Amino acid sequence: MRRDLLEILRCPVCRGELRLTEADPRSEEVLNGRLDCPRCAQSYPIRDGIPDLLPPEPVPPTRG
Ligand SMILES: [Zn+2]
Repeated sequence: MRRDLLEILRCPVCRGELRLTEADPRSEEVLNGRLDCPRCAQSYPIRDGIPDLLPPEPVPPTRG
């Protein structure tokens, strides 16, 4: 993904802005790294240039 794509990407959980971490700072194109959401503390991996913005697994309801 391109770095400027970060401006339009939003966290699927809280719609907050994402922060790019663990990426090569010299490259315009981000191939591998991580997107962190400072609002809800979720993180999403970037693999082969594709951000994996899937919400986390829903927690099944527990019954007492
Ligand atoms: Zn979030």
